[in-house]
Amino acid sequence: MNWKIKMKKEFISLKGLNLTYNLGATNAFQALHDVDVEIEEGDFAIVLGPSGCGKSSLLNIIAGLELPEKGSVLVRGQDLLKLKEKNRVDYHRKEIGMIFQAYNLISTLNVLDNVALPQIFINKKKKERDQRSMKILERLGISEHAKKIPSELSGGQQQRIGIARAIINEPQIILADEPVGNLDSVSSNNVMEILNKLNVKEGKTVVMVTHNAEHAVWGNRIIHMRDGKITQVEIKNREGLVEKEEKSKGGMSEFNKFVGRLKGLSKQQIKILLEPLKAKCLVDQLTKLFSEKQRDKIELVIKKRLNNQIDLKGFYEKLDKSEKKGGVGLDKRSAENFSEKIEFILKTANIFSKANSSEAKAKSVVDGFVDFYGYKISKESQTRATSFLGDFLAKKKNYLELKDILNKSIARKGAGFDQRIIEEFFAFLELVQIVGYGLGENKK
Ligand code: ADP
Ligand code: MG
Repeated sequence: MNWKIKMKKEFISLKGLNLTYNLGATNAFQALHDVDVEIEEGDFAIVLGPSGCGKSSLLNIIAGLELPEKGSVLVRGQDLLKLKEKNRVDYHRKEIGMIFQAYNLISTLNVLDNVALPQIFINKKKKERDQRSMKILERLGISEHAKKIPSELSGGQQQRIGIARAIINEPQIILADEPVGNLDSVSSNNVMEILNKLNVKEGKTVVMVTHNAEHAVWGNRIIHMRDGKITQVEIKNREGLVEKEEKSKGGMSEFNKFVGRLKGLSKQQIKILLEPLKAKCLVDQLTKLFSEKQRDKIELVIKKRLNNQIDLKGFYEKLDKSEKKGGVGLDKRSAENFSEKIEFILKTANIFSKANSSEAKAKSVVDGFVDFYGYKISKESQTRATSFLGDFLAKKKNYLELKDILNKSIARKGAGFDQRIIEEFFAFLELVQIVGYGLGENKK
């Protein structure tokens, strides 16, 4: 029996990370909010997001250089938050190789000494250190510059020294923070190829941070970040295809995730749990312009409408009536507009939940969506969107695949929806699914 089967899971596993700089001070700033990340052994993970979204903070936590105030950080079976300071430093030196945008080379040391430096900490003799360093410089094609100081070299060459220094102690994990951010496209490609080789040929796990979406092609796991949160994770196989990973959170809509969490409950039980959320979701979607107090009241009125305690006319009157008289106090136009919208969604949700095929359900959503927003979407595009959504509802496509194909142009056999429309489309779909949940069985 082969006991050396590698555990794929739990290689790097971050859960519920919150990181606040200057915690407790007036200038406190929360850089990470409830961040969960799983990275498997042998991954080339790309953390992608705009400047300031928390990418470096995340990388520094994996590196053992920064400690979150909340969450857990497991790397190769070690819980970094439970390690003593000294052991965490050891961990960093042995397990992690870091590469930086600004190379971070020591300007007064020559190339060879820069590369050899990290070995000093692990008790190697000078001669041994130099030999190893030279070998790596040869491998990276910069040995002829061994005796020069960094400033005598080009940016691309300096970054290769940075890589040599990062791998000298043979770490399993390479963390690269915008490693090609300062390089022209030729040197940049060169550096990416070296990282790719380290990943594919030597099995190093690479986590690279970048704000440039073009770099995503090098990775098999793309972690999207924004405002200190993970917004999406794409998993690709080595050929660059998106894997059909139904289990992965990225491949599911919010609604499916919600229902997934309730596994084991009966449809009736789920319905009971969903019921109080229905009004809330409707309000969230439709009342961005109202005050919080108005929203709370609107929610109550919507609940009554959902339970058929009031009819359309009564609903409108409640919204329109002044607060003194127990209404919400919207002006006439808002009240009218609002009750029309709610009725429209209710109608669509009804058709949706009573339709008896995925195709018909999909049609109710697409038709409703186009009507609701008044978008000018071509018939062709609508037909395609209906068929794709039908596949999704029939579980023949996952969430990411649906997003992808909706976004592709008509010429490329997609539906030609742009990103903004896709977002609204999913919000509408979710609303219809939530509001419509269980409506179909009501009238038996
Ligand atoms: P990114 O690498 O995506 O550009 P960072 O992780 O460097 O983002 O920073 C995330 C946020 O945290 C930024 O708003 C940044 O200003 C803030 N930040 C980063 N480091 C510190 C620090 N040492 N002290 C205070 N704020 C910081
Ligand atoms: Mg950064």
